[in-house]
Amino acid sequence: MIQVSHVFHDYEGKGKFAVSDISFSVEGGSIFGFLGPSGAGKSTIQNIMTGLLPIQQGEVLYDGKSVRGLNTGFFNQIGVSFEQSNLYTSLTGLENLKYYAALFSVPTLSPMELLERVGLREDANKRISHYSKGMKQRLTFARALINRPKYLFLDEPTSGLDPKTAVRIRELILEQKQRGAAVFLTTHSMELADALSDTVAFLYDGVIAAMDTPEALKRVYGRRDVRIVYREDGEERERVIPMDQREELTAFLANVDVVKLHSQEATLEEIFLRVTGKELTT
Ligand code: ADP
Ligand code: MG
Repeated sequence: MIQVSHVFHDYEGKGKFAVSDISFSVEGGSIFGFLGPSGAGKSTIQNIMTGLLPIQQGEVLYDGKSVRGLNTGFFNQIGVSFEQSNLYTSLTGLENLKYYAALFSVPTLSPMELLERVGLREDANKRISHYSKGMKQRLTFARALINRPKYLFLDEPTSGLDPKTAVRIRELILEQKQRGAAVFLTTHSMELADALSDTVAFLYDGVIAAMDTPEALKRVYGRRDVRIVYREDGEERERVIPMDQREELTAFLANVDVVKLHSQEATLEEIFLRVTGKELTT
């Protein structure tokens, strides 16, 4: 389990905090979705958690051990997929994975099998300099899985991928959860966060504005509407009434010839806007 408590980070030491008082935990066998617009502080948190940025204030614990004192053994236990792919461009995809696998002192997965899983089998022997952005991203993702990490960090794993590949990557992320990994997923895609996360945190301007299961966020912040299709004067008509307006809803339903009823749930995107007052996509 990963526990983050009261983390603050000030890049320039001038009292301007990129992230403030961040606390949450990620259990093994679960996916924690960190959702927020560009500049919210997502990568800052991921970099502090993985030890890339020295921790200034607060604490990050891995199964009770502080990130401050982690030794090289920790490297064997984590997998990190960065937003910017950092691959060896003069090597092929297969060579990149083989080189990376050799750095670990734990059993690693077969590079060729991994390439197959992310749809890069055909491109295994191409140099990275000839890879497209999406191919590089898939390779970076595959690389993060090679040591079967106990803690997996994924920064925007599906952005810019075609829908079919994105589905494949989603399945692979769920598999990581099923084998017991603690997955920290950073994204500005509410759809991805909603589909995969056990817990979602809304990050905005360096603070967590809300945090819960996607279902609970919808229950608490999402107003549900009822869409009523009814017949009047021989024609089908439609009306939308918020579910909490019980009296209006019952009165309306009692007086029309109802054809269909739908209850529609707010999306995480709408809830994000309601909680933070800010669009997720900006
Ligand atoms: P996100 O990943 O959510 O897009 P970041 O963590 O990259 O957000 O950035 C959070 C804030 O910290 C932004 O205001 C950004 O400008 C600032 N920031 C990020 N990296 C640095 C840096 N190396 N030096 C100074 N400020 C930074
Ligand atoms: Mg980022």
